[in-house]
Amino acid sequence: MYLNSLIESDRRHLIHPVSAYRAHEARGATVLASAQGMYVTDQSGHELLDAFAGLWCVNVGYGQESIVSAAAEQMRRLPYATGYFSFASEPTIRLAERLADLSPEGLTRVYFTLGGSDAVDSAIRFIVHYFNATGRPAKKQMIALDKGYHGSSSTGAGLTGLPAFHRQFDLPRAWQHHIPAPYAYRSEVGADDAALIAQSVAQLRAKVEELGAENVAAFFAEPVQGSAGVLVPPRGWLKAMRDTCRELDILFVADEVITGFGRTGPLFACESEGVSPDLMTMAKGLTAGYAPMGAVLMSEAIYAGIADGPDNHLPIGHGFTYSGHPVSAAVGLEVLSLYLEGGILANGQERGGQLQAGLAGLLDHPLVGNVRSAGMLAGIELVCDKAAKTRFAGEIDISGKLSAAAYARGLIFRAFADGTIGLAPALSCSEADMGHLLERLRATLDDVLEDKAVRSAL
Ligand code: PMP
Repeated sequence: MYLNSLIESDRRHLIHPVSAYRAHEARGATVLASAQGMYVTDQSGHELLDAFAGLWCVNVGYGQESIVSAAAEQMRRLPYATGYFSFASEPTIRLAERLADLSPEGLTRVYFTLGGSDAVDSAIRFIVHYFNATGRPAKKQMIALDKGYHGSSSTGAGLTGLPAFHRQFDLPRAWQHHIPAPYAYRSEVGADDAALIAQSVAQLRAKVEELGAENVAAFFAEPVQGSAGVLVPPRGWLKAMRDTCRELDILFVADEVITGFGRTGPLFACESEGVSPDLMTMAKGLTAGYAPMGAVLMSEAIYAGIADGPDNHLPIGHGFTYSGHPVSAAVGLEVLSLYLEGGILANGQERGGQLQAGLAGLLDHPLVGNVRSAGMLAGIELVCDKAAKTRFAGEIDISGKLSAAAYARGLIFRAFADGTIGLAPALSCSEADMGHLLERLRATLDDVLEDKAVRSAL
């Protein structure tokens, strides 16, 4: 009764992000009620192993009491402090210092946001400001990858390379451009890593040449493209793209909103190739979803370009009421200490090996065309014809079938519309829970294989 009225209320009033509104109303919400460790429980009492860490964010798992205490203590002492008018709070300063210490070499300055979208939007604004302030106002064109995701702000959504974020919103804007994603499984150069890297470099060069390097401000990329269906570029790709940007005199922005905080193994994915971007965006794992927060880090050169620009005596017209929120910052500090001192980062590295070994065993499944992974981040692409790599037709609604089957098996993952499964379990996952995750995943695939429409498409 109570649950029905909640669902009814949801139908009538709550607009859900990234959903087809009427289809959602018809389906009704799955109302989540509580969570502990790797498991969430919905209002009907059904327990689900969360293999997606909420939305790639709850990297330390649910129910971490030390985070709850840190937040409560900060709320009691000082629930809010603005960063305007030169005010600050201790946790915010300490978190900025810690992030500058931990992030790739050269990123010294930290601007806090509420999440990833406004971190990307802020990066865009800082870049525009930087080139205006340093006397190169023509440098305004920005390039990103097809299928990339850079958030849902009015500026970032145009750098996002997914049609669903452009349709209906008059995006991308004239200054936003895309080059193909390094998508080994569907690239004509296939598994030849060196050729794939050379191809991406050539595509970036060609785009910069077409626009004129004097007009190009920056190239944005996720080290692993999460929302694209977890596209993992070959080793060396990130460094090659970074070096190309330097050579072409354009800024390189690493969007580590998903890949940051141990998701791919190291604290930041850039570290695995010794890459130092000019700017880096982060969110999600920064507070592990316990409070909203994101950040954009920048190099000293960019900071100085802005700080010492011709209008340096005027306040910079960019800021949020909740920039550097002290409660989120206190949460972020505690989350960092769980990763580093608490051993969760190291645990994630070990569990990543277990995940990858388990997924390799899925390649013989009749539905599985491709498996790709980096640490605790994985994509499993389903096809109805392995030789031709054919995706299931839209009317089969493979993602709807996957989500329903996973729910019945007590599992949550991301089912992308194209039939790719996204996995991003908490880095705190135990060996036993990773075993359960892999078992439930195979059982889910077996169930979907039994579906009549799926069978007849094979
Ligand atoms: N960049 C990337 C790479 C992301 O994956 C996301 C979120 N999935 C964002 C930016 C936007 O972050 P948020 O949803 O916190 O605004």
